[in-house]
Amino acid sequence: MSASKVPSVVHWFRLDLRLHDNLAFRNAINEAENRKHVLRPIYFLNPEKINNSGINRLRFLLQSLQDLDDNLRKLNTRLYVFKGKAVDCLPNLFKQWQVKFLTSQVDIDPEIVEQDEAIEKIAEKLDIFIVKRVQHTVYDCNAVLRKNNGSVPMTYQKFLSLVQDIQVKEVIEINKQISDCCKALDFDCKDFDVPSLDEIAIVGSNLSECKYPGGETEALKRLDMYMSRKEWVCKFEKPNSSPNSIEPSTTVLSPYLSHGCLSSKLFYHRLKQVENGRPHTMPPVSLLGQLMWREFYYTAGAGTENFDKMIGNKICTQIPWGKNPEHLKAWAEGITGYPFVDAIMRQLKQEGWIHHLARHMVACFLTRGDLWISWEEGAKVFENYLLDYDWSLNAGNWMWLSASAFFYKYFRVYSPIAFGKKTDKDGLYIRKYVPELKKYPSEYIYEPWKAPKSIQTTAGCVIGVGYPKRIVEHDKIHKENIQKMSLAYKVNKERKAMKRPRS
Ligand SMILES: Cc1cc2nc3c(=O)[nH]c(=O)nc-3n(C[C@H](O)[C@H](O)[C@H](O)COP(=O)(O)OP(=O)(O)OC[C@H]3O[C@@H](n4cnc5c(N)ncnc54)[C@H](O)[C@@H]3O)c2cc1C
Repeated sequence: MSASKVPSVVHWFRLDLRLHDNLAFRNAINEAENRKHVLRPIYFLNPEKINNSGINRLRFLLQSLQDLDDNLRKLNTRLYVFKGKAVDCLPNLFKQWQVKFLTSQVDIDPEIVEQDEAIEKIAEKLDIFIVKRVQHTVYDCNAVLRKNNGSVPMTYQKFLSLVQDIQVKEVIEINKQISDCCKALDFDCKDFDVPSLDEIAIVGSNLSECKYPGGETEALKRLDMYMSRKEWVCKFEKPNSSPNSIEPSTTVLSPYLSHGCLSSKLFYHRLKQVENGRPHTMPPVSLLGQLMWREFYYTAGAGTENFDKMIGNKICTQIPWGKNPEHLKAWAEGITGYPFVDAIMRQLKQEGWIHHLARHMVACFLTRGDLWISWEEGAKVFENYLLDYDWSLNAGNWMWLSASAFFYKYFRVYSPIAFGKKTDKDGLYIRKYVPELKKYPSEYIYEPWKAPKSIQTTAGCVIGVGYPKRIVEHDKIHKENIQKMSLAYKVNKERKAMKRPRS
């Protein structure tokens, strides 16, 4: 029988670009072998997503797909990549490949959920059996929500109390060769190969050096490297890591976790192994505690409608943010006139990753701190630039930083001058990412506008000519914004009181 006449089992890779700890894919392999059907691992490159992804993240994605394809080939199968939306392509494939069984992981991103619902309806009509597995998070977010009577745990401690007695399942491996009867005849067909950046119309010369190559192989290497540094892991305290070190002071495992090149459950078990029998730091500051922040935001995202929006989001304080496209552009491009903020935004744009506290700095600056622009605008810019962009982590952290949810001390504002000095008083980080200021004396590196004209000239960069003047005056504006936040909180409280039923 030719391969096209043999029915197929499909595994649809999405945010699970790995072979380890991929139960849904193992289910597909078992099913194909039992039924003697052709196994077809697929991925859809959605053109809309391509347009919303920055070039660094696209490169990371293509590298991850290539690595996945290479690893699948070692198992006697391959990855089939399609350029198009799943809802447009899958119905044809279902028929053409006579698909009988479809597996995928459970994702909570509303766009994926909506797409899944549409696909499930089509599959049902064609009698296709679907199996979905929770494998993107350590815990099953919906099970955690059920444990909390359906409501979102609004504090990290509450979340920890809900999961403390849940046994985390072991990680599974897939390393058995797939039998020849499950191998497709179009195994070597170039049409389904992972495209190059050029083929999806990305000009390679715009890319900067690749600091964090994508893929499961690289993820596991990075994980091994950090887990071998046992003392470092056991002493890890997030607040003591540096936002402006030249090399990252945290793991940069986030892009691998968000694309699913690394399983969060594997990370969890490896951390537990390292901590076992050794004195170690504890959540929220420990490395395991960081992973739990991820779980916390995933649970909140799974339980909140419109989690990535202000309107229609019941946990988000409604704040009358302003609109200022020029300020937004200056922030996004790293030309606000505040060297620390600009260095962070330029690192983000160039490399696709910035430290968590650096994200704090720029998110606070854009929203309640200085520019009074909505966190939703900031989240869109992060979506474009971040390698680790993740629907729930991005929205949850933006709400936190803008004091719209989870965190309410809106009067604690990051100073774009003092904050960076704590860990880098000579501004080496600024000198790297804002090279126009590299000859400035340390005294003025965070506040170049204060340097006398003669010093500006000697340093080769006059403020307002070679580097922009400040777009706002932090000292003045942040105090006005605290007043605006105070008012917004008051109005929200009154609104809530009016909605409460009278007894
Ligand atoms: C405004 C803002 C937006 C953010 N957007 C994203 C995003 O889109 N994707 C993303 O992965 N992270 C996001 N974060 C969270 C955090 O900054 C990154 O996860 C972290 O900096 C990644 O670096 P790392 O892997 O070295 O972290 P490590 O400190 O080494 O931590 C290990 C892992 O724990 C998880 N983690 C750590 N901190 C957090 C946190 N605060 N919230 C949730 N999970 C956490 C990540 O998966 C991370 O890889 C955002 C933070 C802020 C303030």
